[in-house]
Amino acid sequence: MLPVIESVQTSHYTTWVEIHLDHLLHNLRTLKKAFGFPNSAMAIVKANAYGHGLIEVAKTVASEVEYFGVSSLQDALALKEHQIEKPVFIFGRLLRPELPAALMNGIVLTVSSFEEAFEISELSETLSRKTTVHIKVDTGMGRLGIPYRQALLTIEKIAKLDGIKVEGLYTHFPTAELDDGFRDRQLIHFSQLVETLYKQGITFRYRHAPNSAGILKGPHPVINLIRPGIMLYGLYPDKSLTHMAQVKPVLSLKTRIISLKQLQAEESAGYGRSYIAKAPTNIAVLPIGYSHGYPFTASNKAYVLYHGKRYPLAGRVSMDYLTIDLGETAARIGDEVTLIGQDQKEKIRAEDLAQWAGTIPYEIVTRLIPTLPRIYK
Ligand SMILES: *Cc1c(COP(=O)(O)O)cnc(C)c1O
Repeated sequence: MLPVIESVQTSHYTTWVEIHLDHLLHNLRTLKKAFGFPNSAMAIVKANAYGHGLIEVAKTVASEVEYFGVSSLQDALALKEHQIEKPVFIFGRLLRPELPAALMNGIVLTVSSFEEAFEISELSETLSRKTTVHIKVDTGMGRLGIPYRQALLTIEKIAKLDGIKVEGLYTHFPTAELDDGFRDRQLIHFSQLVETLYKQGITFRYRHAPNSAGILKGPHPVINLIRPGIMLYGLYPDKSLTHMAQVKPVLSLKTRIISLKQLQAEESAGYGRSYIAKAPTNIAVLPIGYSHGYPFTASNKAYVLYHGKRYPLAGRVSMDYLTIDLGETAARIGDEVTLIGQDQKEKIRAEDLAQWAGTIPYEIVTRLIPTLPRIYK
């Protein structure tokens, strides 16, 4: 498991992640309010809670959510092991060897076809259990889920199986952050399906679709469960959404200077000699590289914060180190440097680093390796 340090004493770490747990609750409440319709929330904690630490995050929000959503059996079982009291839901499909553990632990499963439902139902009966499932309908994601045109007949068949209890129906948005009308068309297909099934006596306690961006696009009468992920962690899936709800970043990434040197004009730093000093300058070495999840593609593009000011990376990010150009600033070994987070009035958001690195904020936080110490505040 992750090294969890209770005290705020960080002095013995050289590179670490700080997690502001109180911001999680603020973000959750902000999102529930932003949806503007009575709702329950499924906190999405897949991928080690987007790199923030699965168990600590789950414990923090457990009392204010209805469900936890993950994509792997490992994460689901970890939540059960730590006695997180809310039900745990898996998005993807488990293959046959994984099913007994899931069923014995009461994990709620996704069903994307009749065959999956049949397999789960048969095994549940063998184990003298009834397994709760949510049926996923593909209204445009083109990944998991029953294609909506075939969904009616398939769901009627699934509803008759004895080993499962169908508790939910859901779908997923591929472009909720855009105003392309696609989400609205998906919701039309989804609610038509809900209504047709309702007339046949097939009802669902939970009907869900919105991810973070979808939540901000407002309520829909058929939807009664929201599935916030990235914004729970205070990050925006898209710049265009920043004015729609104020969430606070939960994660900071920090390190300390381990070495200093002066380069003369024309001297270079790092592999490939991609950085050449124009004039004499101070270079600091930081003990973090792409092996920790700091993106290689941020080489020569990203900035860090030192004593409240921004300084650029100098040269390529290497496996365990990166170098920054401090210019004329004198620094000391052991001083703190912020790679993501706030230092005095300056801020670097995961979204900024994502942009410098040519990727998305999701990738920045989920790639921070689990063995980096997480300090919970
Ligand atoms: C990851 C995920 C979410 C959360 O998405 P965000 O954009 O991070 O809010 C919601 N639903 C499903 C099915 C997911 O896989």
